[in-house]
Amino acid sequence: MRRIVILGSTGSIGTQAIEVIGRHRDRFTVVGLAAGGANPELLIEQARALRPVVVAVSDAEAADRVAEALPGQEIWVGPDAASELAAIDCDVVLNGITGAAGLGPTLATLHAGTTLALANKESLVIGGRLVTDAAAPGQIVPVDSEHSAFAQALRSGRAEEVQRLILTASGGPFRGFTAEQLRTVTPQQALAHPTWNMGRVVTINSATLVNKGLELIEAALLFGIDFADIEVVVHPQSVVHSMVEFRDGSTIAQCSPPDMKLPIALGLSWPERLGDVATACDWRSAATWTFEPLDAEVFPAVELARRAGIIGGIAPAVFNAANEVCVDAFCAGDLEFSGIVEVVADVLAAHGNESPATVSVASVLSADATARQAASERIKER
Ligand code: NDP
Repeated sequence: MRRIVILGSTGSIGTQAIEVIGRHRDRFTVVGLAAGGANPELLIEQARALRPVVVAVSDAEAADRVAEALPGQEIWVGPDAASELAAIDCDVVLNGITGAAGLGPTLATLHAGTTLALANKESLVIGGRLVTDAAAPGQIVPVDSEHSAFAQALRSGRAEEVQRLILTASGGPFRGFTAEQLRTVTPQQALAHPTWNMGRVVTINSATLVNKGLELIEAALLFGIDFADIEVVVHPQSVVHSMVEFRDGSTIAQCSPPDMKLPIALGLSWPERLGDVATACDWRSAATWTFEPLDAEVFPAVELARRAGIIGGIAPAVFNAANEVCVDAFCAGDLEFSGIVEVVADVLAAHGNESPATVSVASVLSADATARQAASERIKER
C-alpha cells in the first residue's frame, strides 16, 4: 500500500489523481491533501471521502471553512502548509500545484527523501540545479505527459545510446495562425485547448507555446540532455507524447489517446504499470498522425525558453515569473495575446543575465519578485 500526499488536490491534476486512486484503493491510501483554498467545498468533499491524516490549506479564510465542516480533522494553514505536508512520512508526493508556489513543496519532498511525482514543472524550471542536486537518482518521476513519455521510452536503451529527445507539441488552439491573427485572440479562444483539458495557466501557456518552452527546460534538467539535442515538433493529434532517438537511428515513441490519468497513474505507481487506467489507441479505425516543424517566428516562446535555459542560473525563474504575470494580465484583459511573449522577452533581456554564480532559494525567489515587478511595469507602460 503506497501512502500518497496530493498537493493541489482540487486542480485538474489533483482531481484526476483522486480518480485514479479511487480505482486502485487496494494500492494507494491518501495521507495528505493540500490546496490553495479557492474551492473549499471540493476540498471538504475530498477529505470526507479519502480521510487523510492532514489537510493543508494556504488561504486562512478557506481553512476556517474546512475546519468548520470537518471537526476533528488535522488542518495545517498558511503559505508554507503545503511544504510542511510534503515533508511528512509517506511514499509518494504528487505535486500538482500550479506555478512558482510549487518550489517549496518540491524541495521539501526531495529533502525528506520521498519520491516526487512531479506535475509542477515550474518548480523544476525555476529551481534548476537546486532541485536536481537535491534529488537522488530516480527520486523525481515526471507526470507531465511528454516527460513521462521520455521516461518510458528511455527504458529502451542506455543513457550513452541516446541521441536526441523529440518533444511533441499539439501546437495549441492557434496552430497555423499568422502573427497578425494572433494579435486579436481572446482569453476565451486561448482557453479552448483542442486536445487537453487543463488548468487556466497551463492552458494559456499551451496557446502561447510557453508551456513547451518550460517543458524543454524541464526535459534538459530531468534527463541531463543538452538543449541542442532537444527538438520540438508539432503533432496536432497529441497521441505521440514524445520520442527518444537513439544513436543507431531508432526512434521510440510513447503513444496513447490524450488522457492525463495515464502519466498520473504511472507517476504514482512507477516503475510498475496499473491496469484500468486509460483507453489505448484504437487500431481498428483509420487514423492519421501528422508532424510538422514549429513556426518559431510566430511562436517565439520555445526559443526564448531555450535561451533562458542555456543562460541558466536565475534566467528560467525570470522567464517563468514574467510569464505568470502576463497570463494574469491577459486573462484580465490588460494585455493582448502577443504581448505575453513580448513582455517575457523584454523582462528576460533586462533581468535574465543577472545570474549569480550559484543559485539559492533566496536568489530564485528574489529573481521571481524582480521579474514580476518588471513585467507589471512593462504591461502598464504598453
Ligand atoms: P489547476 O489550476 O487546475 O490546479 C492547481 C492546484 O494547485 C489547485 O488545487 C490549487 O488550489 C492548488 N494550489 C495553488 N496554490 C497553492 C498553494 N500555495 N498551496 C497549495 N495548493 C495550491 O492546475 P493544473 O492541475 O492544470 O496544473 C498543476 C500543475 O501541473 C501545473 O504546474 C501544470 O503546468 C502541470 N501540468 C498540468 C497538466 C494538466 O493536464 N492539467 C498537464 C501537465 C502538467 P486552489 O484551487 O484551492 O487554489
